[in-house]
Amino acid sequence: MTVSVATLGFPRIGPRRELKFTLEKFWAGKITQTELEDAAAGLRTAAWARQKALGADWLPSNDFSLYDHVLDTSMMLGAIPARYDVESAEDAGLETYFAMARGTTGGSRCRHAHGSVTAGEMTKWFDTNYHFIVPEIEPGARLQLGRPKPLEEYREARAQGFETRPVLLGPITWLSLAKGHGVDPFDLLDEVLGHYVTLLGLLEHAGAEWVQIDEPILVTDLTEQQRRALTRAYAKLGRAGPKVMLTTYFGGLGENLSLAASLPAAGLHIDLLRAPEQLDAVLKAVPKDRLLSLGVVDGRNIWRADLASLLDRLDSLAAQRDLVLAPSCSLLHVPVDLELEGKLDDELKQWLAFAVQKIEELDLLRRALNEGRDSVADGLAVAACASEARKTAARIHDRAVGERIAALTPGMRERSAGHAERISAQAEVLDLPAFPTTTIGSFPQTTAVRKARAEHNRGVLDTASYGAFLREETERAIRWQEEVGLDMLVHGEFERNDMVQYFGEKLSGFAFTVNGWVQSYGSRCVRPPILYGDVSRPEPMTVDWWRYAQGLTEKPVKGMLTGPVTILNWSFVRDDQPREASCRQIALAIRDEVLDLEAAGCKAIQIDEAALREGLPLRQRDWQHYLDWAVDCFRLAAAGVGNATQIHTHMCYSEFNDILPSIGAMDTDVISIETARSQMELLEAFAAYRYPSAIGPGVYDIHSARVPGENEMVELMRQAQKHLRPEQLWVNPDCGLKTRGWDEVRPAIAAMVLAARTLRAETQVEA
Ligand code: GLN
Ligand code: ZN
Repeated sequence: MTVSVATLGFPRIGPRRELKFTLEKFWAGKITQTELEDAAAGLRTAAWARQKALGADWLPSNDFSLYDHVLDTSMMLGAIPARYDVESAEDAGLETYFAMARGTTGGSRCRHAHGSVTAGEMTKWFDTNYHFIVPEIEPGARLQLGRPKPLEEYREARAQGFETRPVLLGPITWLSLAKGHGVDPFDLLDEVLGHYVTLLGLLEHAGAEWVQIDEPILVTDLTEQQRRALTRAYAKLGRAGPKVMLTTYFGGLGENLSLAASLPAAGLHIDLLRAPEQLDAVLKAVPKDRLLSLGVVDGRNIWRADLASLLDRLDSLAAQRDLVLAPSCSLLHVPVDLELEGKLDDELKQWLAFAVQKIEELDLLRRALNEGRDSVADGLAVAACASEARKTAARIHDRAVGERIAALTPGMRERSAGHAERISAQAEVLDLPAFPTTTIGSFPQTTAVRKARAEHNRGVLDTASYGAFLREETERAIRWQEEVGLDMLVHGEFERNDMVQYFGEKLSGFAFTVNGWVQSYGSRCVRPPILYGDVSRPEPMTVDWWRYAQGLTEKPVKGMLTGPVTILNWSFVRDDQPREASCRQIALAIRDEVLDLEAAGCKAIQIDEAALREGLPLRQRDWQHYLDWAVDCFRLAAAGVGNATQIHTHMCYSEFNDILPSIGAMDTDVISIETARSQMELLEAFAAYRYPSAIGPGVYDIHSARVPGENEMVELMRQAQKHLRPEQLWVNPDCGLKTRGWDEVRPAIAAMVLAARTLRAETQVEA
């Protein structure tokens, strides 16, 4: 029996974000389309050569994309909304593609742009931080096979001597992610399948023996309609040409296993990282003639695998049947190459594996299984050594943190009084008017701010001058907020590069890469912090900035922190303990900061949980467990303060209906949310739930370049009063202002303050 290695997909951005820079040059009109296409082809060739050299037997093609693979699929199927005004899918070129990706105003996702075409909506790809462009199906839409990109890239690879397995986004996942405008995307099932059949025929004709069809939808809760569609689809596709490796990832098949096993595909890939326990059931359910592909190294995280225990698990299985070993999912979600990290120290590096290193691990596993462990004794010894070291390393396991966690008591998650008492204690110290106005924390990160930070990082600007510069910016922001008449001020966050990184850099247990980029969307990449060890807070992180800002004004200045769940969800986290255990440690560190802010005299502290909702598990049955520990961690961070200290939180979304009890359980005093775009509809849910605290429903859509007028904001707040008592309401934008310019922010906030005054004049508010 033989074991082979597949990769399922390789990072597209290039080892040094070459794709990003090339795209940006193209968008800026500095290079031609041919130059863009040549650069993209160069990246593809390099990726194939690299994977092959590392020992991958199954090379992917069509895993590359100029922007997004879901958008590629929509383009190929001709699902191009009428507003892009193309005659036929075949005519749609790069211009249409980027218009769908970014709109024609060039990157601004402004919904109110006039005379220009808006981009498609963007949302998260399952539970990753990768964003895709949502396919749109309009009434009467007819699909039409456009340029067969998978065929072109298959041929391109073949011409260079690389035999590849084209990667296709599965038709049922594509349909499930699509949004129908008054129509059910599944009405188009047969049309979609027809085009897939044609495509598979073309691929077979061109020489492709296998294709990889990704159906991650199979690890989610499926409706009857989706199940029927899967059966119907694979009855056609399973026999339409090349052999199909039906690929599932991001979780276990669970109750969908028998369905997946019944589909006539020649192979099945399963994720053994998220769902290691599914192996036995899969072995039982899947016929022996099916090629099994096992996701055994983590495609979603950056840790080196424990090769010895994997071999123990795989030995006997490999003796019984052919196996493909692969990452759990495409390597799209991890950085390219650990060797490019000059700054990480060797101890930490030995525990890590990026995309390149993960293929090396798969290669070792294959050789150990095919030729015996002795054949790769050295490689295995190095891996074993690293695993051993990680289990006991002092920088990972901090006894003091363990002792604090063991000593937690339920009382630490409880405020000392209920809402009514807190409201009156806070009213006394804060003395705010009705409809208090505030902002979410950040002010524009202008070119000057970013330039100063970059120069300070490069050592060109010394720390003293940089500090002086930041203090000036902060002072200017405070003065302006006083002038414009805001009631609760913020310091502006000029010193912060990013709301998670800023804290990660100050906490023990986090490391940062210099080149560990992963694609977030299109040309945008992020470098998630690496949470590798027990978390503690060596010293206060924000108190000096708060104190400086508060020293400049009589008005209250909010303390501004990022919450534990958001820090966790936006980092690469430990795999040697449950996520909730890491989150609890972060919560304790944030609690320390909250209490230090309070001791310094801070009367209102905002703890942002921008990513709480997006951490929801893919399966609904797992939601409650997640929400319970997430809320528990938030409360641990927040609840240590006295009654008179006002706890705020901010959440960047507007979908609360299904998680309101948990939002309520966070027990904050004020929550600011995103509502400007949904016309306050969601407040109905807060009202029905009898939400007891104050709410600032964002009245200014900061995602748009448009400056809203006073009347519009007054009108939104009047809508809000249909659902909530006036004394519950705050007036604020719907997110931080760091991405906007001062010339937009100044008039918008001035109008917001006027709106609050109008509201005060026209409304009876109970004291
Ligand atoms: N305080 C942060 C800011 O204003 C909050 C941003 C967020 O939650 N996305 O930038
Ligand atoms: Zn926000």
